[in-house]
Amino acid sequence: MKITGVKGMNDILPAAVGRWHEMERLAREVFHLYGYREVRTPAVEHAALFARGVGEATDIVNKEMYVFEDKGEELLALRPEGTAGTVRAFIEHGCHVEGLQKWFYIGPMFRRERPQKGRYRQFHQIGCEAFGAGQPAVDVEQIALLADLFSRLGVTTDLKLNSVGDAACRPAYLASLKGYLQGHAGALCADCRDRIERNPLRVLDCKVESCQPVLQGAPRLLDALCQGCKDHLGAVTSGLDALGVAYRLDPRLVRGLDYYTRTAYEFASDALGSQSAVAGGGRYDGLVETLGGQPTPGIGFALGQERLALILEAIGRAPPEQGPAVFFLSADEAGAKEALRRASQLRKLGIACDLDPRGGKMKTQFKQAERVGARYAVVLGGNEAASGEAKLKDLATREELPVRLDDLAERLRE
Ligand code: AMP
Repeated sequence: MKITGVKGMNDILPAAVGRWHEMERLAREVFHLYGYREVRTPAVEHAALFARGVGEATDIVNKEMYVFEDKGEELLALRPEGTAGTVRAFIEHGCHVEGLQKWFYIGPMFRRERPQKGRYRQFHQIGCEAFGAGQPAVDVEQIALLADLFSRLGVTTDLKLNSVGDAACRPAYLASLKGYLQGHAGALCADCRDRIERNPLRVLDCKVESCQPVLQGAPRLLDALCQGCKDHLGAVTSGLDALGVAYRLDPRLVRGLDYYTRTAYEFASDALGSQSAVAGGGRYDGLVETLGGQPTPGIGFALGQERLALILEAIGRAPPEQGPAVFFLSADEAGAKEALRRASQLRKLGIACDLDPRGGKMKTQFKQAERVGARYAVVLGGNEAASGEAKLKDLATREELPVRLDDLAERLRE
């Protein structure tokens, strides 16, 4: 029986990996500019971390998490998102004493969702977390960072912004929202009815057409914010205005996870047809404490790399992987030996080169040179090995120029 890859878990083949390198290169560059440093945490954590940190009432933990018993000893989970593990590491290594910490991560996440375009069971996220400052300036800086990254990638996005309140104002709002939703439960879809008790904020997020009239009439959290949350939101919007970052206030933008407070934001793109979220973030001032750390404010986002790769493809920003500078073709056995020797010399000098170890027909070897995207080709045989002279063929223009093999590195550097 043929064994295939697991449903919803994708291979990224060499022909497509250039887009991934491009987004990761630019992300690292931007993170450096904004003072975010990389953290790497394991893909496997105790399942309890996510139950507590993400919330048992969320679909992510409740329905979609890959949980397994490790040889009957402990309950582990493949991480469904990056924040909980990052916070766990932050607490475990006592990092709160170091003041403000700005971290980023890049890596695979796992959710057992129904696979569809842009939604997978193993997917990848690039995320940022800033710990230790509750000031709106951190929110502004982080949102501006993400806007900067998208602009460098050439991706046009819409930024939606909201406040989800805090412990002072959200409980009363949730009570009034629940009351309203219960009163209109008959007009809501099954998922929404199910969420009224468990996660009423998420109901606001429902995209089902028949739910929209009820949701449009729902009480707005923006109208129920306490003074502290209002001031915070006002400072975030005026900070973004000052930096020229465009946004739209969206009172129905909520985050699916329980630990968010105040600022919630989302970057969406319509490059894929309908609007889809590429990155979502928000403040989570209660999370570090919930996971057993010192009370520490925090704010973070996660960007979906598969979505971004699809967008980069759709807008034609797909840099081809850079091929080798030169490809050696061998005309005979002496040429094959010379090719290996010359390739080794060039590689030591930091010049990428390749050869066809199978030898054989020139035509086949030229095909291979083109397949790997080589810039130049050099045919080597006994004569070239003896004289140290060969022809340098430009594979794009087909032009041929004589070259001394000892000068090859210098010529290629030009
Ligand atoms: P979340 O962690 O759910 O806030 O998602 C943040 C971003 O990750 C989303 O905007 C998507 O771009 C991406 N994302 C979330 N879930 C998936 C998935 N199952 N497959 C691919 N991308 C995803």
